[in-house]
Formats: sequence, structure tokens, C-alpha cells
Amino acid sequence: VPDISKKYVPDDRLDPGIPKGVFSGTQYESFLRCGRAYEFSYIKNIKRPPAGAMIRGTTVHRGAEEAHRHIIAHKKLPDIQEIQAVVSDAFDKEVKENEVIEWDEGENPGRVKDSAIRSYGVYHRLALPKVRPVAAEQPFVLYLDSTPVLGFIDLIDQAGERIVIDGEEAPGTLVVADLKVTQKSWSQTDIDRKPQFTLYSLATGIPSVRVDNLVQLKAGPDFKQLHGQRGHQDHQVLMEHMSETIGLIKKGVFPMTSIDNWMCSQTWCGYWSMCRGRR
Ligand code: SF4
Repeated sequence: VPDISKKYVPDDRLDPGIPKGVFSGTQYESFLRCGRAYEFSYIKNIKRPPAGAMIRGTTVHRGAEEAHRHIIAHKKLPDIQEIQAVVSDAFDKEVKENEVIEWDEGENPGRVKDSAIRSYGVYHRLALPKVRPVAAEQPFVLYLDSTPVLGFIDLIDQAGERIVIDGEEAPGTLVVADLKVTQKSWSQTDIDRKPQFTLYSLATGIPSVRVDNLVQLKAGPDFKQLHGQRGHQDHQVLMEHMSETIGLIKKGVFPMTSIDNWMCSQTWCGYWSMCRGRR
């Protein structure tokens, strides 16, 4: 994993009590899923091979990012084939860079690549014409106590109605959006509770959040959007719990997740043989 934190956080603001000196929403959610898995991954640096579905998600994201940047720079939609070529190249790069990838049963690189390209095509046709991007892959750093929290926002979208005042277009309602490529459709509860969106709202001061969900159905990819809101209370609750989590990490407390957690099994946890599955 390239250490990009130094590009955004000055050396004297890095927190030596946290891996690589910075915290992130990804680290936070990883710790919440299982503290012990967090320890294996971030403290002991034992990485597990990515799943095929993850490679698909990463490469579709790469295409969407390129398309958003194109609209910001040229004020028009990019050519779909150009961006699908970006997805294809990104996929080849991921496969080359990861020595081992865990393909699901019935999956192979060719099929997953085709599905990534098709998924991007659905995003291009259904979502992109309505997107008015203000920023793509926008970095942010906020400080919780003295710990820097670094993140990147997929898309800040000026998604409100077009309003013209005295001949000038007024800014529409800004929305923080994140693209999710999933097997299962997101629910309203998912977006209402997801800490990642609360963090993005906190970092930008934008209350409106949106998930752009590409769902992999048997019949092919489908697209849907869900909207949510975050307020001051949500931000406070997140900051309090993130601070508590950072405190546990600094004390070296990495609790195992509950025994009935669905991910705590040989099938879903890459650390099973080193942890609850060890003999
Ligand atoms: S086996 Fe269970 S407790 Fe251990 S790291 Fe995996 S999920 Fe966590």
C-alpha cells in the first residue's frame, strides 16, 4: 500500500500512535467489524488477497473518477468507450499488481472484467448525464484531538435544481456522493447509518449525502440512488466514537469480534487460521 499520507499531512502533524500516522474512515470501520482483524491488517501488516468483487469495484470507481474529472474540465460527457478503456486498463493493472486474488466460485478474470466494463456502462448511461460534479476524489484531512483523519470523497455533486438569479446560475444543493458496487442492494437504513457518510458530511459541512449503487444482479448490473441527511448530532456521535476507537488502538486493545458475527468464519475471515480457527 503506497504511503500517501505524507502528501496530505505534514510530518509534525502525524500521530505516532496510529499506523502510518493517520487515521481514516476505512480504519475505523475495519476496527468496528473486528478489532483483532484490524490488528492483523494495520498493526502486524498481514494483508489478505483481495476478492474478485473488490477488484471489480475498484476499477469501476476508477472509470467513474475519470468521467467526473472529464466533466469538470470539459463541461461535457466523455465518450463511453474511452472510459470503458480506462476501466479495462485499471482492471489489468490490479490483476498484475496483486499476485493472488480470491475469485469466487464460477468467477474468472475475464468474466469479472466484462462485468466491470458493463457496470461502468450502466453508470455512464443512467447516472452520468444527471451528475454536475464540483469535485472528484476530493482529499480531506480533519483533526480529532491531535490525530489526523484522512479521506477521499468520490464525488461532490451539485445535484440541486438549476436556479438562475439575475442571469447567473445559483449554486444548486451540494451532495456528497459515493459509488458502491455491490452484490446486494443498499437499503435506506444502510445509508442512514453508514459512518463513512457521516465522516464525509463532517469534513465538508455538506448535510446531504447519497449512495450511487451499482448492484450486480443475475440479469446484469442495475443502478439506484438513495439519499440521506447528516446533522450536528450525527457528527458529534461519530467524533466521540472515533476518538474512543483511536484511544483503544493507542492502548493496544484489539478485541475479537462477537462469536456470532457473520464474518467470523473460515469462509469470510482471512485471519481465521491465525485466530479462532487455529489449532
Ligand atoms: S477469526 Fe473472528 S475474531 Fe479472529 S480476526 Fe477473524 S473475525 Fe476477528
